[in-house]
Amino acid sequence: MFDLNDQQKETRAWAREFAEREVLPRAAEMDRAATYDRAVIEAMFEAGLMGLLVPEQYGGRELSVLEYATAVEELARCDASTALVMSIHSSLVTALIAEFASDEIKGAVLPDLASRKVGAFALTEEDPSVPTKADPTGDAFTANGTKMYITNGPVADIVVLFAVTGVTETEREGKVRKRDEVSALLVDTDRADGLTRTQIEGKMGLTAAPVGRLVFRDVSIPASHLIGERGEGLRMAMSVLDAGRIGAAAMAVGIGQAALEAARSYATTRVTGGRPIAKFQAVQLLVAESATRLEAARALTYQAASAADRGEPISELAAMAKLFASETASFVASNALQVHGGSGLVKELHPVERYFRDARVMEIIEGTSEIQKLVVAGHELKG
Ligand SMILES: Cc1cc2nc3c(=O)[nH]c(=O)nc-3n(C[C@H](O)[C@H](O)[C@H](O)COP(=O)(O)OP(=O)(O)OC[C@H]3O[C@@H](n4cnc5c(N)ncnc54)[C@H](O)[C@@H]3O)c2cc1C
Repeated sequence: MFDLNDQQKETRAWAREFAEREVLPRAAEMDRAATYDRAVIEAMFEAGLMGLLVPEQYGGRELSVLEYATAVEELARCDASTALVMSIHSSLVTALIAEFASDEIKGAVLPDLASRKVGAFALTEEDPSVPTKADPTGDAFTANGTKMYITNGPVADIVVLFAVTGVTETEREGKVRKRDEVSALLVDTDRADGLTRTQIEGKMGLTAAPVGRLVFRDVSIPASHLIGERGEGLRMAMSVLDAGRIGAAAMAVGIGQAALEAARSYATTRVTGGRPIAKFQAVQLLVAESATRLEAARALTYQAASAADRGEPISELAAMAKLFASETASFVASNALQVHGGSGLVKELHPVERYFRDARVMEIIEGTSEIQKLVVAGHELKG
């Protein structure tokens, strides 16, 4: 068992208490309705959960990555859609602004992001062969293009938009190479004429999370809203995505934990042939293998988080944690479904089919399993 210190245990207990009180009672209905309950976001702001990674000077809690990971895990144990809303807002949006934006931007948006405004991180393109552009025009950039699968996109007050702001040319051995220059821009959705946002309907898992398509048509973004240097957008995105993967891994561990608890509870109460099914070795094996893999996934996730807190390079560990934890969550949820027999398939009877659907999505978001493997291979085989 990974050893958390007293403060880390306290943070975890605080997040668990919040999630069981404010999130769990609403989770099944939000999933059924495939709609996010705004009251949960308000409750998270009220509790300080949306500012966990915001520096204290801007009104946040400035937690360690490990404490943050335990909070995400506890939210996901109760509702993965809620954990997604919080983790994208925190580990991608607030973390990127806190690390790379000017003091002026930080002062203008971080207090609001910690207390009342929702953030979204718009990187994925609807069509990668036609990337979103933001042409520099005088004192502003003019954005055109379509971003897809953007968590919080439909409800966000602030969007961090990654767009092509120009082309850089480099010459090597007499050949000129052209490369898109990607920059990060802060979009205030209240002042973004030409931005259309639609919710993506019919997701298989994380159904309640507000995930959307953002269409930019001649949206003017002030030049002062540039985050970091022009052309540094992808580097900044990759940097926060490394840490974001630890959040995604923690989410997967939380879903796996919920599924394991459901399997344990059902196995001890369901009686067939006069005995609880927990007495059957076949059921014991399903639970034992799930518990073992889940503990390993949690240890890897916490190890990656601890490395981030020590300021060590985390790219490989974070990719390993995300890869292993998401595949483990799917495995554990599938086993839990099996333990439940037919009743596991019925929404109204047990939440386990929701865990199964949510876990599967974790193998795709914040970089697919294949991409995580490429990252790991890049480290293992470099040089
Ligand atoms: C619920 C949800 C929430 C999301 N939230 C956000 C968000 O907030 N912000 C955001 O920017 N994005 C978000 N995404 C997008 C998500 O990160 C992408 O869907 C994911 O990274 C995969 O990208 P893609 O959908 O473009 O698939 P593609 O890149 O088209 O991949 C399709 C398949 O090809 C494989 N593949 C692609 N490239 C390679 C390669 N180089 N080598 C080997 N295999 C490859 C992939 O593994 C996959 O199997 C979200 C997605 C979902 C489902």
